[in-house]
Amino acid sequence: MYAAELQFRIIGDTSYAAAEAAIRQYLEALIFQGQILGREFPTALQQEQFVSRIVVPAPDSLQHAFHSDSGQQALQALQHAGLSYPKVQILGVDLMSNHTDPCDAPASYILYCRFAQTNSVLYCAEHFAPVPLYRLGIRTGLEELIRWQLQYQALDEIQMQQHSLLLKPAERALQSLRSQLNTQGRRLARQLQRHTGKPVYYALYRGSSSDCASETSRCCPACGGPWLQAEPWHDLFDFRCDRCLLVSNIAWQCQG
Ligand SMILES: [Zn+2]
Ligand SMILES: [Zn+2]
Repeated sequence: MYAAELQFRIIGDTSYAAAEAAIRQYLEALIFQGQILGREFPTALQQEQFVSRIVVPAPDSLQHAFHSDSGQQALQALQHAGLSYPKVQILGVDLMSNHTDPCDAPASYILYCRFAQTNSVLYCAEHFAPVPLYRLGIRTGLEELIRWQLQYQALDEIQMQQHSLLLKPAERALQSLRSQLNTQGRRLARQLQRHTGKPVYYALYRGSSSDCASETSRCCPACGGPWLQAEPWHDLFDFRCDRCLLVSNIAWQCQG
């Protein structure tokens, strides 16, 4: 990922409120297309321009051709608010985030989400590296996937807090195949599969187990078939069912 600056030059009559609203609308459209990552974008007025600090998956992430329909509309709205088309200044590789997948067209994917990661939830199954969502060529409809990611991360953060009152309900939502969260996640994985024409595995979180002794002999929760791997896939997924496109891990509680 790259740290970058987005510069909006003031080219006409504008007010602080109008400029702020137009910039906010544009940044939001970029978030929901996977073109910028994270949630906080400090924006400051510097002489004749507004400057926002952002993180992008690749140096060319903000090309207008990758914009969603609402991104194109927000781009035009900048001009109505007296601002130029934004100029992107890449500052360098962001040390705090991981590397974007190098493939032009991955052969298969894994939908995988954890609380600390701001990157795309769609990973290349070969490199286990995040694939920027705008590369999928979807013009509208990625917002649901990114909102699902935010909800998933909020629950994951709660269940990481050992003394949280909501620990058990949050863990159930993450761990149970038929929770609302996982039902929606698997539906989104199937949509991505239809769109890309490639298998999209769904990573099912496993934190705790009621019986560590039998943890490795458990079966695929969807079809009941065997799914333990000889070696964990990407050092992470001990379980994998190619029929149901599900992967999971030995409960963290039972490891080590
Ligand atoms: Zn790859
Ligand atoms: Zn299965």
